[in-house]
Amino acid sequence: MSRRRTLLKVIVLGDSGVGKTSLMNQYVHNKFCQQYKVTIGADFVTKDLQIDDRIVTQQIWDTAGQERFQSLGVAFYRSADCCVIVYDVNVLKSFDSLDNWHDEFLRQASPVDPKNFPLVLLGNKIDIDGGNSRVVSEKKARDWCASKGNIPYFETSAKEDINVDAAFLCVARTALANE
Ligand code: GDP
Ligand code: MG
Repeated sequence: MSRRRTLLKVIVLGDSGVGKTSLMNQYVHNKFCQQYKVTIGADFVTKDLQIDDRIVTQQIWDTAGQERFQSLGVAFYRSADCCVIVYDVNVLKSFDSLDNWHDEFLRQASPVDPKNFPLVLLGNKIDIDGGNSRVVSEKKARDWCASKGNIPYFETSAKEDINVDAAFLCVARTALANE
């Protein structure tokens, strides 16, 4: 059986501090770091996974913290195959930013078919205070996803490794289905 190898560029967007870097570290290195580090060295990390008969290399692009004060630039968005948008369920402002991230993505990446472009929303840090400090309900998040054309939604914890693999697998499957 011949194996096809596919490269998928995945970009991760969302306000500073929501856990983008932590989610990627958990997914790719199975590590969580409590310390807050704004910058990382590389533009992207990669992870291979097998989906049906193919090997998929996910090339996951992180920001170096510039989402706080400037735009991410064309190279970041260029030829992205899928986009993950993250907010923190405990921080309303990060949820209110979703429209901006969504708009910015459509403007910068200008996908050929925006309605069917593979996007996934993650509500992160569900572990904090056993969920007692959350301010954005699951329903509110799902309503937002529905309003954007039924974007898949996952509630995650990079710290406790909840739903992280499932979310990135969904990202890859959605992108492959869209080919
Ligand atoms: P980024 O700016 O979006 O890349 O966010 P980071 O990944 O740097 O995370 C910001 C802070 O939140 C760090 O102190 C992380 O340790 C913490 N953090 C990230 N994800 C989680 C999570 O799922 N649960 C908890 N409790 N803390 C998290
Ligand atoms: Mg980061």
